[in-house]
Amino acid sequence: MLEKNWNLIKAQLEGSLSKNEFESWIQPIRYVSNTEDRLTVSVPTSYNLVWLQENYLSDISQRLNALSGSVISLDVLVVAPESPDSVAPVHDEPSPAISIQEKVDPFIRDHSLLQNYTFSRFIIGDNNALAHAAALKVANTPGTAYNPLFLYGGVGLGKTHLMHAVGNALLKKNPSMRIAYVTSEEFVNLFIESIQKKRQTNFRNRFRSLDVLLLDDVQFLLMKKETITELFNTFNALHTRKKQIILTSDRTPKQLQIDGLDDRLASRVGGGLDVEIHKPSFETRNAILLAKANEERLLIPNEVYSMIAESIETDIRLLENALSRVIAVHRLLKKEITVDMAKEALNLVIAEKNPKNVSFEDIIRETSNVFKLSKADIKSKSRTSQINHARQIVMFLSRQYTQMSYTEIASELGKEHPTIISGIKRIEGELAKNSRLKEKFDEIIENLKKR
Ligand code: ADP
Ligand code: MG
Repeated sequence: MLEKNWNLIKAQLEGSLSKNEFESWIQPIRYVSNTEDRLTVSVPTSYNLVWLQENYLSDISQRLNALSGSVISLDVLVVAPESPDSVAPVHDEPSPAISIQEKVDPFIRDHSLLQNYTFSRFIIGDNNALAHAAALKVANTPGTAYNPLFLYGGVGLGKTHLMHAVGNALLKKNPSMRIAYVTSEEFVNLFIESIQKKRQTNFRNRFRSLDVLLLDDVQFLLMKKETITELFNTFNALHTRKKQIILTSDRTPKQLQIDGLDDRLASRVGGGLDVEIHKPSFETRNAILLAKANEERLLIPNEVYSMIAESIETDIRLLENALSRVIAVHRLLKKEITVDMAKEALNLVIAEKNPKNVSFEDIIRETSNVFKLSKADIKSKSRTSQINHARQIVMFLSRQYTQMSYTEIASELGKEHPTIISGIKRIEGELAKNSRLKEKFDEIIENLKKR
């Protein structure tokens, strides 16, 4: 449906824009994928991206919302056609396969690998050296060294990249290898679809006949009971045949278990090697920026890298986006890259960001993640200051970013209406004077933006 709406909008724009404008900016936009409330398209260069953002995106968004009758998130990736040097995605999860392996099951093809996530483009730093070494080892001896390999850490730290790097390296050595990359969300959806269409055997055969299964962000499986059982069986089938499994998550296997992942699966998941990817140091962030600029064949003053690396400390995707932005402004507006110019360019990026379409579930999930608590803790009666703060932040954010009434928030949290009002007041005061708490709060907001 969203794909259809997108085609309609394209046709509308063809009618309303000049031929030249249409051909330069709208025609090159390619449909990539969609879910119910999210449309992903791609453009061939970062120029197109900036131009699109500055001139057409809000119009397209409005048309899309109007046609679809709800608020649709629109993601734009930069994907150079047919080029392995394409710039990395500028948003969210690296989504569907751009690279296409011929002669393989269309299912595998549809869930194939992003070509630009390779070992050679992965910068090694103290934060990820162990994960990198483990991934390399797996790429050299799949199924035997560490099985499963479990990579965990925060958003944008390179888990997905490394996982694809293993897949790409293996495929290069042996193009007929059956490798599937799936996000856990996709896994759940495919599984549900297979039940609906009575194609469970098909689903099973496909996953259990793989040589390598790359399953991203397994925390999405929490509470999906039936899918977990299916994964458990898939896991065993692959593992006994010494087929490689790589998993990623934003938390440790132990934490997954605490958060309610089936015990049997949790113990399997933790049965290989688990490695944390930490936040990159300033030097590593600099090195990543330098590598990206080299790919774009640009010489950029060191102070500019430092400025960007200082202002973005964790998420490497944001780091890359910031640099792409500066480069695009340089090319489009022919402005020399200086610290001032870069600062100006980046304010734009920051100004665009505000969490959108946030649900109560999102808030409670991100809050419990940042506080390292379970959802049950937050909903419990416990009054430790840690849990109290987390709970009050949930109240505050629910008022701020959802349409929920005090009564609805109260009933979700098993509290009374006045408790919510006083909780929100209290946390506002607390945030103003407690800088460590404010840091956590900011991190939750950042994570809500990135969902
Ligand atoms: P995660 O899966 O941990 O959220 P990703 O693997 O999607 O993170 O990485 C986010 C972005 O940062 C990707 O574009 C990826 O290519 C890039 N990236 C992450 N780590 C590195 C690294 N060490 N060197 C180069 N690029 C990196
Ligand atoms: Mg990822």
